[in-house]
Amino acid sequence: MPQRYWISNGGRALETFGAYLPQKPAEHLISEHSGGCRELANTAHFHIDLDGNYLPGLCAGLAIQRDDLGSPLSTEKYPLLSRLYAGGIGALFRYATNEFGFVPAAGYALKCHLCYDIRHFLALGEDRRFEELQPEGHYLYG
Ligand code: SF4
Repeated sequence: MPQRYWISNGGRALETFGAYLPQKPAEHLISEHSGGCRELANTAHFHIDLDGNYLPGLCAGLAIQRDDLGSPLSTEKYPLLSRLYAGGIGALFRYATNEFGFVPAAGYALKCHLCYDIRHFLALGEDRRFEELQPEGHYLYG
C-alpha cells in the first residue's frame, strides 16, 4: 500500500506500516536528526482536530490550542512541542528517558516513529498529563 499511495508516515500510520520499513536504533536516528523539528512551523498544510486544536505540520497527536496561535508558545504549557522545535527528537528523547524512564524499542523506522512511541508512552502514564497530546483518544489504541 505505501508503494501505491502517498502515506504520511506519522501517528498511527507508523504502527501499521513502520514494521515494514528498515529499522534503526533510537541513538542512530537521534544522531541523524540533531536539529529542531522545523516541520512544526510549516503552515502549508495543517489540520484542525475535532476539538478545534491546531495540529502542526503532519505531526498527528500533537496539538496547539487555537487561542495560543500567533504568539510564542509557553514552554511550561507546551513542554513537548517546545523541546521538539528547539532540540528535535533528541531533546524529547532525553526528557522522556531522564524524567519519566522511557525505554526505547530495539529499532524505529523514522524519527517520527520514535517520537510517536515516546508520546504514546507519555500520554498513557497515570501520574502525568500533557495538554498538547491531543485529541485525547488518539493514544488509546495501538
Ligand atoms: S519527530 Fe515528532 S515533532 Fe518532529 S516531525 Fe516527526 S512527528 Fe513531528
